[in-house]
Amino acid sequence: MLDSYKNSQPIVYKILKNAILNDKCSHAYLIETGGFYDSINFTMSFVKSLLCPLKKLAKENCGNCHQCEVIDSGNFPEIEIIKPDGLWVKKEQLQNLQKEFNTKALIGNKRVYIITKADRLNKSSANSILKFLEEPDNNLVAILLADNIYNVLSTIRSRCQILKLKSTDISKEKLSTIEKLKQITIGSNKEIDDEVVTNKISKIIDFVNYYEKNHLNTMLYIGKLWNEYITSKEEFEMAFEIMINYYKDILNYSLNKPSEIFTPNDDIKNISKNNDINELCQKINKLVELKDLIKYNINTNLLMDKLIMSLEGVV
Ligand SMILES: [Zn+2]
Repeated sequence: MLDSYKNSQPIVYKILKNAILNDKCSHAYLIETGGFYDSINFTMSFVKSLLCPLKKLAKENCGNCHQCEVIDSGNFPEIEIIKPDGLWVKKEQLQNLQKEFNTKALIGNKRVYIITKADRLNKSSANSILKFLEEPDNNLVAILLADNIYNVLSTIRSRCQILKLKSTDISKEKLSTIEKLKQITIGSNKEIDDEVVTNKISKIIDFVNYYEKNHLNTMLYIGKLWNEYITSKEEFEMAFEIMINYYKDILNYSLNKPSEIFTPNDDIKNISKNNDINELCQKINKLVELKDLIKYNINTNLLMDKLIMSLEGVV
């Protein structure tokens, strides 16, 4: 809960805590996450504290009531989390959000939407939420996150209360690649066996590296390269998310931008050399597209064949 950030984020903690206790929350926050490695969990703690029906009764924020548990499980209907679809947050994602909020009746006391990468709002997607940010509904709270607020369009920035998280000793740079991947794919779920996940993550990267050297031939070895490690729907989603992030960092390397998760190594440098920027963007888009199919219970063998053919540009 928010109280666990009392020491690591004293200023932002104080501002948000006071706002919650006095019912004086802003309708839109833009949180600069800087190097703070735990920003998503921090945000969810804030949201829980904001929505918890017991927030004023419990001295320390609750975290254990039924509603807090539903929020933890990711199934609370009044919270929407928007992540970039591909490289950008798309206009349609925001229009759908507004439609949904306008038609559904409010269950709790407030609704929250979170945009995890506000710097990935382009002009057209930004325009579609300006009105939303401008004419705040009392029950609606927007939380936008960005590593650096100056990468966020000024039209958005000017409509939000800005909070800056302090980067802590355990800075993003000091976390290993595996730890960063765990943050983005499984969050703070503690019931996961570390060694198993670490092994799976490295198999997924091995798979991409193998594919980049062997192309269509990879299809012959899917059993050994993939099926032995990735089986459940959740694992497929995690695997695709990891591959997307891997290609994004290869793209970052090609564009001379700092990497987000994967420190450039020989594999990344080689893949960057063998793919032009267009090809990398296409591969990212294909992965995003196919990742979406996982939730429809698509036959996973077909999915992997389709993946390789899509990456090859055959389909
Ligand atoms: Zn609670």
